Order: sequence, then C-alpha cells, then structure tokens
Amino acid sequence: MDYPGNLFVVAAPSGAGKSSLVKALLELDARVQPSVSHTTRAPRGQEKHGREYFFVAPAEFDQMVLGDGFLEWAHVHGQRYGTSKKAIEERIATGSDVILEIDFQGALQIKRIFANSVLIFILPPSWEELRSRLERRGEDAPEVIELRLANAAEEMKQAQEFDFVIINELFDRALFDLKAIVHAQRLKFSAQRRARADTFKALNIT
Ligand code: 5GP
Repeated sequence: MDYPGNLFVVAAPSGAGKSSLVKALLELDARVQPSVSHTTRAPRGQEKHGREYFFVAPAEFDQMVLGDGFLEWAHVHGQRYGTSKKAIEERIATGSDVILEIDFQGALQIKRIFANSVLIFILPPSWEELRSRLERRGEDAPEVIELRLANAAEEMKQAQEFDFVIINELFDRALFDLKAIVHAQRLKFSAQRRARADTFKALNIT
C-alpha cells in the first residue's frame, strides 16, 4: 500500500530516550503528527486520556480487537497496547506524516502492513548508561529495573530488522539523526514528485 504520508515507527528498550526524542521532533516539525495508542494500563502521574494514551478497560480493548480496530496490538510489560487503524490510515492517506512510538513487536507488524513505513530503532550507548538512566529516572524498583534490562537484551536483538538505528549518546546528536531520517524520506523520488508536482511537470518528468 502506498500512501502520500510517511509512517515513521520508533522503537527502543525503555530508558533509551525514545519518548524525549519523539517529543523534541514533534515540537520542531509540525508536519509530523503523533499517534495516540490505546492501552489497558492505568494512567501515570499527569497523563491524560486522549493525550498520552486512550486508557481503556480490558473489555473495550477486546471489542476493538474483535472489531478489527487495530493495525497492530501487543502485550508489553503485562498490559495491552494497540494502534488504532482508522486514525493512522486517514492521516497518511491525506498526506500527513505520522510517527508511532511503539514496541518492536508492533513495529514489525506495521512493516508487514505498510512496506513503505520507516522503522527506526533507538539504542543506548552502553549497558552501563542504560542502567544508570533507568536508575536516575527513579520510576522503578530495583527488581523492575532488572526486568527492564533483561527485556532490553531481547528487544535489542530485533534492531537488525529495522531500517535505521540511532545511538542515543548525546541527545542533540540523536535528534539531528532523527530529523535527518525524516528529511531524507521526504526527499525520495515518489515523495518529491507528489510534493513538487508543478516543478516535475514543468521539467517534463513523469
Ligand atoms: P509505557 O506504558 O511505558 O507508556 O509503554 C510501554 C511500552 O509500550 C513502550 O515500549 C511503548 O512504546 C509501547 N507501546 C505504546 N503504545 C503501543 C502500541 O500502540 N503498540 C505497541 N505494540 N506498543 C506500544
């Protein structure tokens, strides 16, 4: 399926800095829109329904699964998370660029549906740094941190399935890399031909 909008999918083990990078990109680039997933987990801190997630009861999630409402969904850390089909398809069909911040299982499912989607994996620079970021975050008990690190080892093995890899050592450098990927995608022949149809026509390029 080829759509005028680009679909960027970002995955990373927790603590790699995925959310901060995506947030910074969204602030800089108004042409990229975030996707708000559905989840069965409860809101944390200041999270708001419809902003970070649509927080739904398990039964509602089941309904969406049965009604084919998700492009993909997965179990992550004991909860379910899913990407609404309607919200994504409508936006990329009308030429918007959409970014999904989901786990690697979801990312691989999206690639199977949208061969043109761009899969980006964010890696930490080292184990030591990943551990110390999780500790500094202060959100998790020590045993949860160990679990996240064990999961990270498995998740990072999937990086080879992705189109791009960003090593988040220095935040600004990683953000530059993310912007470069988005920009390069927009410079592809098919994207340019769509965006600059008049120029292409004037130059007799079909
Ligand atoms: P958190 O609960 O910390 O916000 O997210 C936990 C994990 O679920 C993160 O890796 C996040 O990227 C992933 N996630 C969030 N939304 C989705 C989704 O719609 N689909 C999938 N497969 N994973 C998601």
